[in-house]
Order: sequence, then C-alpha cells, then structure tokens
Amino acid sequence: PDRLVLYCRPGFEADLAAEVTARAEALGWQGECDAMPLAGYVSYSPRDARPVNLLHRELPLVQLIFARQSLVGLPPLTLSRDNRLAAIVDQVVASGWSFDSILHETPDTNEGKALSGLIKALTRPLASTLKKRGALRRRAAGRWLHLLWCDGDRVQLGMSFPGNRSELPGGIRRLKFPSGAPSRSTLKLEEAWHEFVPKDEWPQRLGEGMQAADLGAAPGGWTWQLVNRGMHVYAIDNGPMDRQLMATGMVEHLREDGFAWAPPGRLDWLVCDIVDKPTRVTAMVERWLVRRWCREAVFNLKLPMKRRWESVSGCLAALESALAAAGVSAELRCRHLYHDREEVTVHVRLLD
Ligand code: SAM
Repeated sequence: PDRLVLYCRPGFEADLAAEVTARAEALGWQGECDAMPLAGYVSYSPRDARPVNLLHRELPLVQLIFARQSLVGLPPLTLSRDNRLAAIVDQVVASGWSFDSILHETPDTNEGKALSGLIKALTRPLASTLKKRGALRRRAAGRWLHLLWCDGDRVQLGMSFPGNRSELPGGIRRLKFPSGAPSRSTLKLEEAWHEFVPKDEWPQRLGEGMQAADLGAAPGGWTWQLVNRGMHVYAIDNGPMDRQLMATGMVEHLREDGFAWAPPGRLDWLVCDIVDKPTRVTAMVERWLVRRWCREAVFNLKLPMKRRWESVSGCLAALESALAAAGVSAELRCRHLYHDREEVTVHVRLLD
C-alpha cells in the first residue's frame, strides 16, 4: 500500500484534497494529492518512509468532512481486456494481505453506474480465485478489500478496517423519502442523526416531549423530522409552513428573523437550514451554545463554489475557540452528507 484513497461527491475533489493535505500536514506528513475533477475520489500519496496505514489511522474517517469513505490503497491497475482478473489477483496476493469480504464499488458518477454488468460478471470468479490463493478467508480481522472501478479497464484496489470506514456501499447512506414530509430537505436532518447520534441513544437524545427550534423552517422538512420523534417545535420562518404539519399541533410557527430570535427557555435541540453566509450562521449558533439555549445543534453551512475547505475549516475553528474561551465543553463534528449538495452539516453537543 502506498496511498490513501478517499471517496467524495463528484465535484468536491479539490475540497477533499485540500482537507486531506492540510490535515496530514498538521500531523507531520508531506505528500501529493491526486484529485481529478469529477472523479468522485482522490488519492493521497505520502512522501515518507512511514507506512501509509499509520496515516490512515491518524486521520479517522469520522473526523474528515468531505470524505465518504477512506481506504488504504494499492497502486491503480490498468487491466488487459482478455484477462481482467490476472492483474487484480497478482496485486492482492503480492500485497500479502488477506480479507474477509470483497466489495465492488464505482465512483458516484453516471459512468460508474454503467459498469454494473461487468462487475456482476467478475464478482464470483474473483472471489473463488482469491479464496484458492488464501487472500479471501474467514476471520481476516474484519478487513475488506474494495475494488473501485473507474472504468472497464481501470481499477483501484484498497482495504478498509473495522472502526475506521463507512460500512455502506460507496460510503453513501440512501434513505427512503418519508411519505408526508413536506420537502426533500427532510432527508438531510435524518441523515445527520444517523451520522452523529448512535442508534441506541436515539430514545434519550431524540425523545418524545423534547423541545426544539428550527430556524429557516419552511416548508417544514426538518420540522417534520423533529415532530416525527415526538418533539415540540418552534418553527422560525417568514415563509409558509406545510398545513398538515401545522395540524399536528406540535409546531409553533413564528414569522421572525432566525438570527435575532431567542427561545423562551432552554431547549433540547437547535436546527438551522438558513441559506446565508457560513460565518453569519456560525456566529448565531455560537451565541446559542455559549448561552446554553440548547443541548445539541445540527446546522448546515452553505458553501461557496470555490475554496470550500478554507471556508468551512475557518468557521469550525472560530466556533471551537469561542466555545473554549467561554468555558463550554462540546463535541463538534462536520460532514458532507450524501443528501447535502453545496453545503455541509455540523453537529454540536454540549458535554456538561
Ligand atoms: N429545512 C427546510 C425544510 O426542510 O423544509 C428548508 C429550509 S430552506 C433551504 C431555507 C429557509 O430559510 C427559507 O424558507 C427561508 O425563508 C428561510 N430564511 C432565510 N433567512 C431567514 C432568516 N433570517 N430567518 C428565518 N428564516 C430565514
């Protein structure tokens, strides 16, 4: 292995490359990041004699923003059309690693989708050959072998380890649109909860009878999620809220400015999906947290087209240092979710 291979939404390669390069540098690593526009992944090669597995562990996937998946990669392969398997098997066997599962994946692009026939044809023969060669076996410590098919002749092999990977194909969490929800946006908040709140803690942290505020709530996709968990919601927006949602009696709609509104008392959750400057949204959430107006917050930062990593990392650093200065200890995470487009989702939880 000589590189990290990280998946992202196509179009965010430069952002992921900037992020990985900066984070690696902060950990004392120098390297090159190969980021082809719209490829749906990047690869980072350290200029360093230390094993790349070490860097992989030092950069856990949960701490990365723009990466959907993180693998330790082997050099990319170009295959010969009359025997695609040979080069793959040789590379796996030569690596000396063994695996207990094989995953065939494609970048999240239209070209990727067209490769499903080829992948289907290769899946069984590859598994049986690797089994014979001892590279696919039971109890290989939970290691998975990933084959990222870039086209029919080019494949990138990588490996993943339990506890530092997405268990989902392509690192993508597909969610079913809930019938009755007033907007597609609803899936962003649902995905955020899957990402940031362990499922066994949902009853305590997303429980019935809790109180929430939704800033920029209309037409109510996020409010719908909160109400669906049994919460009472202050929905702050000048725009109209979905009538069915209002008929639940769980929502108080206030036509006020989300940046100025203050809650009548302490709430459990703050969520915010207002489209505005990331620095302005972050400063508003900071005020909420420093005054402890909520215990947890999920908010989206709408990112400019260029230099998105610089923009989001600046906001997060400012928020972290403001919380620290105010003596507020909090857990802070940020991810570019599958249902996010030109935006990222931040989660903050107060710890005391
Ligand atoms: N999360 C919502 C959903 O799931 O249906 C969609 C929110 S939409 C992307 C952004 C909303 O923010 C708009 O309805 C807009 O009226 C509202 N908005 C913009 N500026 C605002 C402000 N200063 N205060 C409150 N709402 C604001």
